[in-house]
Amino acid sequence: MYNNSFPSVYTIDLLNKYRKNFIHGISTRIGGISDSYYKSLNLGLHVADVPDKVIENRHIFCSQLNLSLQNTVCCEQIHGTHVHIVTKADRGKGTLSLNDTIADTDGLVTDVPNTPLMLFFADCAPLLIYDPVHKAVGLSHAGWRGTVGDIAASTLHTMHRAYKTNPQDCIAGIGPCIGQCCYEIGDEVADKFAALFNDSTHFTLDHILVKQNDRYHLSLYEANKALLTIHGLLSYNIAAESPCTSCNSSLFYSYRADKGKTGRHAAVICLNNI
Ligand SMILES: [Zn+2]
Repeated sequence: MYNNSFPSVYTIDLLNKYRKNFIHGISTRIGGISDSYYKSLNLGLHVADVPDKVIENRHIFCSQLNLSLQNTVCCEQIHGTHVHIVTKADRGKGTLSLNDTIADTDGLVTDVPNTPLMLFFADCAPLLIYDPVHKAVGLSHAGWRGTVGDIAASTLHTMHRAYKTNPQDCIAGIGPCIGQCCYEIGDEVADKFAALFNDSTHFTLDHILVKQNDRYHLSLYEANKALLTIHGLLSYNIAAESPCTSCNSSLFYSYRADKGKTGRHAAVICLNNI
């Protein structure tokens, strides 16, 4: 859902039903101070934008959601599948500098209220997970590598280990990412997805990989929705219909549409103290 009153924030309708319990949002390109390729609300510190502008943009985004930037936690994001359990001691890591970000990590989980988890994207999919029974949240970064590596499972397993989370209780949203319309992939990547879903009795590959003009197109939405379902989430508890970042590159950063010269929008999730 795009709200004209808060132009820097996109939210997922299913998750908005739980706004008393947790805050979430995906930033847009609108309302920031960065120039050039990064115009205007670039939140990525690692893309050669002016760091002071990025930090000011992070303040702008957090203030629209009424979140504390100094309590926020970020991670390095290397297209891997490691998930870190965030405690109070992690607050502030990676928010003002890359030097103290949580290294070699593509997912964060926490049960600590008022501790926003924030990851950065330009076409990859944000996976947002809420466990209403054990009051915990997770956020992970799923490009094709993270998806085929099953970071959805890593996130759920880490939440189970840390908080006894049962996937059947969880609510999940897949935020804006590149859609199947725009996401042409090579045969070697398609082969990895075919192998991953080969043993699944739940899903056929029909929706995940579609051949257009002799080239495969991947749906990160369908692949991650399938994985979340295979790992125990109920399909009506998964929202997987956000806009395509490449088709909407004036609203979101898109690595493909902008040919690599672009900024990053963020996804954030934060438990309320109730
Ligand atoms: Zn598209």
